[in-house]
Amino acid sequence: MAESSMQRSKLEGKVAIITGGASGIGEATARLFADYGARMIVIADIQDELGQQVAISIGTHRCKYLHCDVTDEEQVKALVDSTVQNYGQLDIMFSNAGIISGSDQILLDLNFSQFDRLFAVNVRGMAACVKYAARAMVEGHVKGSIVCTGSVAASHGGKRRTDYHMSKHAVLGLVRSASVQLGVHGIRVNCVSPCGVATPLTCQSYGKSMEEVDKLYEPLMPLKGEALRARHVADAVLFLACKDSELVSGHDLVVDGGFLNR
Ligand code: NAD
Repeated sequence: MAESSMQRSKLEGKVAIITGGASGIGEATARLFADYGARMIVIADIQDELGQQVAISIGTHRCKYLHCDVTDEEQVKALVDSTVQNYGQLDIMFSNAGIISGSDQILLDLNFSQFDRLFAVNVRGMAACVKYAARAMVEGHVKGSIVCTGSVAASHGGKRRTDYHMSKHAVLGLVRSASVQLGVHGIRVNCVSPCGVATPLTCQSYGKSMEEVDKLYEPLMPLKGEALRARHVADAVLFLACKDSELVSGHDLVVDGGFLNR
């Protein structure tokens, strides 16, 4: 059944920031937000050329790219400040930028410079985005929605990638605390937690193509029929960002085709 124009305008008038929006899940979400009528989507990333290309392909009347390294608190503050200055308000923050360490990071060989780098992006960067988005929403009296990208890695241990699993557990702690503290301002904070999706992040990490990564993940998901794609995660983000989830806060929405229940 075709969607009505009312459904397609779920984000009408909304101003959103998407970190890590130049690629993968962030890019798919930027495109979906544009489809659903967002007034302005600010893509924040460190891949300037790619980010610009995504903004241009969506249309610069409703999507802009800004360089922002989320590990730098001042850059995160400037990102939020300039968004509010230029577009009047901030309604949605999708704090999504994340990385994986270059080695297996098993506990017995944990490399702490990789560990610190990963935590600077996945945990500290995530917290900075939530902090400055929440400040702008409180100051602007906006009952906004903040969504952070977690992972199924926040709900189980791993044989490797210790730092990544730890960082995603921390994201859940951030989301749960923020939802308690910001509820009084009418601000909702949730988490979207995908299972394995073929994106540049996972392809680089395995040194494989999208199709090969799909094949690696396929046996892990009990739900058969379609491989998990960035756009499936974007659908979940859209739900958390818009009014459809108006009483949902502090929730971890897993998008895993039943993976965690195996
Ligand atoms: P991706 O590499 O396609 O996208 C991540 C984006 O984050 C990139 O554009 C990258 O340039 C950007 N980024 C990295 N460091 C940054 C920084 N310091 N400041 C600003 N931007 C930065 O990967 P993806 O798979 O789309 O990952 C997005 C999020 O999804 C991450 O948080 C990741 O941990 C999470 N996730 C991914 C999967 C998966 O299987 N792909 C599963 C669970 C969770």
